[in-house]
Parts: sequence; structure tokens; C-alpha cells
Amino acid sequence: MRLTIVGCSGSFAGPASPASCYLLRAPWQGREFSLVLDLGNGSLGALQRHLELGELDAVALSHLHPDHCLDVTGLYVTRKYDPSGAQSEKLPVYGPAGTAERMAAAYEGIGPEGMTNEFDFRTIEDRVSFEAGPFRVTPLLVWHPVEAYGFRVECGDRVIAYSGDTDACAALAPLFQGADLVLADSAFVDGRDETAGIHMSGSRAAQAAVDAGGVRRLMLTHIPAWNDPEVCRAQAAAVWPGEVELAQPDATYQV
Ligand SMILES: [Zn+2]
Ligand SMILES: [Zn+2]
Repeated sequence: MRLTIVGCSGSFAGPASPASCYLLRAPWQGREFSLVLDLGNGSLGALQRHLELGELDAVALSHLHPDHCLDVTGLYVTRKYDPSGAQSEKLPVYGPAGTAERMAAAYEGIGPEGMTNEFDFRTIEDRVSFEAGPFRVTPLLVWHPVEAYGFRVECGDRVIAYSGDTDACAALAPLFQGADLVLADSAFVDGRDETAGIHMSGSRAAQAAVDAGGVRRLMLTHIPAWNDPEVCRAQAAAVWPGEVELAQPDATYQV
């Protein structure tokens, strides 16, 4: 499968990247299937550098903070009002309970049907896997102030694990274990951000990947514009035995 970093700026869009959005593509039934993990603010624009929005096959939202879901509202506009013709099929949108209502509430003046004519909202549950084209996705409940999930995505014999927003927690072991690539929230900086239950630092992310075992690549993400990414990388490198990668907007990785 191929992973494209559409947006990796933590908590809000930064000067060099939108907020969280990761595009996964893999061959499926004679074509390419496209799944995005999160659609944070600003990401819908950047996503169009990588595909036609009508080619999108599924969306999975880790949680309902705006930096992970708000551009679903723009995607709704493209599905409903495209002058070249509205999309006939409903796009599956996987998310926590209440996703449909939250997205409708974000769109001033929408009718009582909300976005249900454009999207097929499907509620995710802890450790209940779902199939999206060639991808088998397992959401794991993680540690954040709201209901939030990490996604373990399997495609053939390859695994990409995305932490979503979380502090280090027990769920990260089954989430990360044996993953070919881990995308880990590293918004916090050791010595500056010691609050528990919100985000990891580079060192906490690296320790979680070490503890999970078998992780091949560690990539830090969700780094806010106010951080020096090299500080996050150095804090992770003190724990992680291999190269610590930083997610780069618009970069594509073959996994
Ligand atoms: Zn976030
Ligand atoms: Zn969050």
C-alpha cells in the first residue's frame, strides 16, 4: 500500500501543512482504492493534489476534534453541489458515535437530514474491525480527553498503525505490534508538556513503539507549528534504536 501524508500539523493547520489527514491507496478489483484517515482542517485542499475527490472511496475519523474531522464539511459540499453532477453513491464515513450529528452541527443551516444523503455514517467501536476495499481497519480506543481511536490498517501482509491523538496507553501495544510503519502523535515536548491523557512526546511515542515490539519504522506526526520538530525527533531518538522519521506533507511512502 501507499501512504501519502496530506496533513500532519498538530492541533491546527500550520504554515507548511494542514491538520491531520493520511491517504492510503492500494490496488483493489482492477483499480486503486483510496481511504483517508482523518480530514482535519485545511486538508481537503491539499488532498486534491493527490486525487480527484470523486475517487475517494472511504473516510475514517479517529475522533471529533476539528483538526481531525472538520473538512468533512467541505467534502459534503463537493458531493452535493458539484455542477458536473452530484455523486450518486454515498461515501462511507467511519467515526465515533455522534459523527453524523457533529458534522451536521458544524454546517450552519443544513436541513434535518444533515449529511446523510451524501455520506453513509458508520459508527466505529473499540477493536471491532471493518473492511474498506483492500484494507482491514481495526480501531483501538486510546487515551485522549474525548472518545478517540488509533487505527491499525492491514493490507495483505503489511501493517500501518496510526495512533490518532493519544497519550501512551495499553492499547498502543496491540495497535503498534509488528507494524511496518507507525505514525505516532508526538505533539508534546518533554520538559514542557507533562499533562497526562492528551498527547505523547517523541520519547513517549518511541517507548510505546519499543514496548509493542516488531515495529519497523517510526514516524512522528501531529507536531504543532509551535514545536521545533528536531527537538521532537531528538527526544524520540534517545529511546528508539533506529532512524526516527518525521512525517512530511505531500510525501508518499510505499509500505
Ligand atoms: Zn489532534
Ligand atoms: Zn484531539
